[in-house]
Amino acid sequence: MPGEPQADCLFCKIVEGQIPATIVRESDTTVAFRDINPQAPTHVLVIPKVHYRDAAALAAAEPSIAADVLREAQTVADEEKLESYRIVFNTGAGAGQTVWHAHAHVLGGRGLAWPPG
Ligand code: ADP
Repeated sequence: MPGEPQADCLFCKIVEGQIPATIVRESDTTVAFRDINPQAPTHVLVIPKVHYRDAAALAAAEPSIAADVLREAQTVADEEKLESYRIVFNTGAGAGQTVWHAHAHVLGGRGLAWPPG
């Protein structure tokens, strides 16, 4: 069921503490942790505790939690003292999504080219 924890979901396991992660922030509805394969000096993932396959599904079903994810992403950027940063929601395999639990990438600490690859 959308919104329910999924037994085979890596990020649900991080939410439940079954897999270790370097957690930088936690709220009632979200967890933020460092990406295991950082693509920039700051690379933090912000996820909702509830399971939805991508950001669009989260926003459709739980818009206030989608807003929480965005607010937490901005707070991470503030705490990391990033003057410029990028918040990315890869959505769909063709856009590079590999983990099917909605997540925002917060990237910063270096110049970021546009358009992304
Ligand atoms: P991509 O792998 O193309 O970035 P996603 O947008 O789905 O695809 O992002 C998944 C992210 O999760 C990746 O940046 C990956 O490095 C990260 N990741 C995978 N496993 C872990 C883990 N155990 N702890 C922290 N980050 C992880």
